[in-house]
Amino acid sequence: MAQVIAIANQKGGVGKTTTAINLGACLAELGAQVLLVDADAQGNATSGVGIEKSHIEHDIYNVLIDEYPLEQAIQHTQRANLDIVPATIQLAGAEIELTNLMARESRLKLSLAPAREQYDYILIDCPPALGNLTINAFTASDSILIPVQSEYYALEGLSQLLHTIKLVQKHFNPNLQIEGVLLTMYDARTNLGAEVVAEVRKFFPQQVYQTIIPRNVRLSEAPSHGLPVIDYDKRSKGAEVYDLLAKEVLAAHE
Ligand code: ADP
Ligand code: MG
Repeated sequence: MAQVIAIANQKGGVGKTTTAINLGACLAELGAQVLLVDADAQGNATSGVGIEKSHIEHDIYNVLIDEYPLEQAIQHTQRANLDIVPATIQLAGAEIELTNLMARESRLKLSLAPAREQYDYILIDCPPALGNLTINAFTASDSILIPVQSEYYALEGLSQLLHTIKLVQKHFNPNLQIEGVLLTMYDARTNLGAEVVAEVRKFFPQQVYQTIIPRNVRLSEAPSHGLPVIDYDKRSKGAEVYDLLAKEVLAAHE
């Protein structure tokens, strides 16, 4: 049975998609069967693993709104053991359309049920909002991985995120846990970076990963080549740290 992990933070640009792609690819490299679910209308996870948007016939929108079978929307990527349910811009309409549908919070959970048997990890790349799509992701997940950018306002917005997690636990998914908090885009050259790390560790005493993701230019270049960083530049710092993160995640589930 897969562990379903939502990668979420309602702030944009904190490293959710980068983490979904590269944690997914590193888990696959270590032998896990991994499914990415792109739940953001921008479709950055989709293009970031090399799926051409114009070639997509069915995406996560069709799964959520039209009840199209999720298994039939799955596409293989160039990397072995790494598959994706893609997203296109039509997903933008789902946020409002979901409001009027039956079981609007649990549609992703129901669709994912068969795939849970086939994968070890299902990673959901959430949009930068706490709306219907993110509620669907939280209802469908076992746990939430929260990327936090190592910058001055790192903790801003997190109480709102934790409140949403509590609401989902109360109403839809009592077993939902926090998988871990990941510090991203760390800049070792500034004192601020170290201060932010200390502050985030104080706020989440048990939950911050040992692995900290530094700023690394290879991580930002890889998506335009449609590749996870381990396939773009295996020797880069970015590849090294996401491999360490994948090992931490695997160890937590042994
Ligand atoms: P989100 O999904 O939270 O909006 P992204 O993962 O798309 O964030 O990251 C935002 C931007 O920052 C992207 O252009 C991405 O390539 C870049 N980026 C993310 N993580 C890093 C990193 N560790 N080092 C350098 N650039 C990064
Ligand atoms: Mg994103």
